[in-house]
Amino acid sequence: LYRDFDDDNDSGRVRVAVRLRPRNAEDLLSDADFADCVELQPELKRLKLRKNSWSSESYRFDEVFTETASQKRVYEVVAKPVVESVLSGYNGTVMAYGQTGTGKTFTLGRLGKNDASERGIMVRALEDIMDNISIAFDTVEVSYLQLYMESIQDLLAPEKTNIPINEDPKTGEVSLPGAITVKLRDLHHFLELLQIGEANRHAANTKLNTESSRSHASLMVNIRRSVPGKVEDDISYQDKITKGNFPIVRKSKLLIVDLAGSERLDKSGSEGLLLEEAKFINLSLTSLGKCINALAENCPHIPTRDSKLTRLLRDSFGGCARTSLIITIGPSSRHHAETTSTIMFGQRAMKIVNVVKLKEE
Ligand code: ADP
Repeated sequence: LYRDFDDDNDSGRVRVAVRLRPRNAEDLLSDADFADCVELQPELKRLKLRKNSWSSESYRFDEVFTETASQKRVYEVVAKPVVESVLSGYNGTVMAYGQTGTGKTFTLGRLGKNDASERGIMVRALEDIMDNISIAFDTVEVSYLQLYMESIQDLLAPEKTNIPINEDPKTGEVSLPGAITVKLRDLHHFLELLQIGEANRHAANTKLNTESSRSHASLMVNIRRSVPGKVEDDISYQDKITKGNFPIVRKSKLLIVDLAGSERLDKSGSEGLLLEEAKFINLSLTSLGKCINALAENCPHIPTRDSKLTRLLRDSFGGCARTSLIITIGPSSRHHAETTSTIMFGQRAMKIVNVVKLKEE
């Protein structure tokens, strides 16, 4: 009855999953009556949001993950189809959106140093990519960036700030020539880089005296694959590459974006820097929301130029790209307003249909 996450008949649409964070100590302390504001019905892929004490509204997503869903399952459902299409030469994006503290970084960036089962989407994606390319003939390059107050900072070299975005006027391809790109040797190499990036992100947050994420973090993975020329089909991939010529190089890009907290920071009467930051976060998330609406409504003009976030996503969101969005929520009714706005954002994103095209040189 319901479409599967990767239903081929519907392959261009943005896939949206919702993940509920387990109840934490703060929820337990403050919710005396354990009044959850959501109820999940994973078998129906539905989420019921309580409107008030007597009524609730039900929403359908492509997938609904309860608080016990494993990192492996979340990866396999949300990100693996995107990674597979990136390996076939398409662009792809995986984004996480939600209030601070609801598990965006847990879902995407978890290193799982002591327990590989805890690894998040970034590590699992790179593991799949490295397992499926030929290191001798293909290249995988990563950059790790943070967008803070409309300035792009390199998380692999934090002294590099204000990195400009380059958009190829002919192809519309987005690149960041000023950012460090590291050619990966293996998964271990990636784990080292991610650890450096996370430490720099943490240091930047500490400097801002905050545990909340006021920046968007984006891992950019550029893949160039040599597609072998026409040789007999019954020889191995390695042999094909060695024996064939290389008439085709396929370029594709995977973006994994940990968006800034979706809460409206200005509601508590912030001042000074906090207010400035709130304005920038609101600007980028509002412009992302506008692009999502415009794409969902099939508008001829998508307002990507309004913020750096949407400029960065230009060739990854809409156009020739595959996109999965995971929205993260907490169970507590204390955050009813934020949870509602996160769910509405996810519902709008479900309407976007991307045009999936192959790019070849
Ligand atoms: P965000 O990036 O949205 O601000 P985090 O990923 O930092 O949130 O998560 C906040 C806290 O909740 C962290 O301590 C994290 O380990 C924990 N957490 C989040 N999601 C889960 C989950 N699905 N299972 C267990 N712990 C989680």
